[in-house]
Amino acid sequence: MTENLRCSWHECKNEVGPNLRIDGDPYCRDHYRQVIERSFVDAYDEWDGSSEPGQHFRYWFSRYFEFLIERKELALPTLMTGARIRDRGYEFKKTERGLEFSIIRHPFAWSAKKVSYEEKQRWGFDLEAKTARLILS
Ligand SMILES: [Zn+2]
Repeated sequence: MTENLRCSWHECKNEVGPNLRIDGDPYCRDHYRQVIERSFVDAYDEWDGSSEPGQHFRYWFSRYFEFLIERKELALPTLMTGARIRDRGYEFKKTERGLEFSIIRHPFAWSAKKVSYEEKQRWGFDLEAKTARLILS
C-alpha cells in the first residue's frame, strides 16, 4: 500500500512531491518553495550582517542555495554545494543586494596529478538576481 501523504502547510490539500521534506514534514511543490524561501529570508533578516552567522543562518542559506541549484534558477560558474558553504564558509557579510562570503576550495584536488593546494575564494550572492559570482580568487 502506498502512503498518500498530504502537504503539511495549513489547510493545503495538495499531494506532496518526492523528497520535498523540511524537518521531516512533507510539502507540496509550492509550499516547499515558500517554506525554504521564507525561512532563509527570516534568517537573513535576523542576522546582523557583519558578525559570522550561526548554524541557523548557515542551514537555511545552504538549503536555499541547494534549492535554487536544483531548480536551475541559480547561475553558478563552477561547482559549489550548499553543504560546503554551510560547513566551510566564513567572513560572511551582508551587502546591498545579498551577501558575500569566503571559502577555501581545492580546485584541482580531483585531478590525476593529485596536485593539492588551497585557494581562497570570495563569492557574492545576489538575492534579487539569484546569481552567485566569484569576486576574488
Ligand atoms: Zn501545499
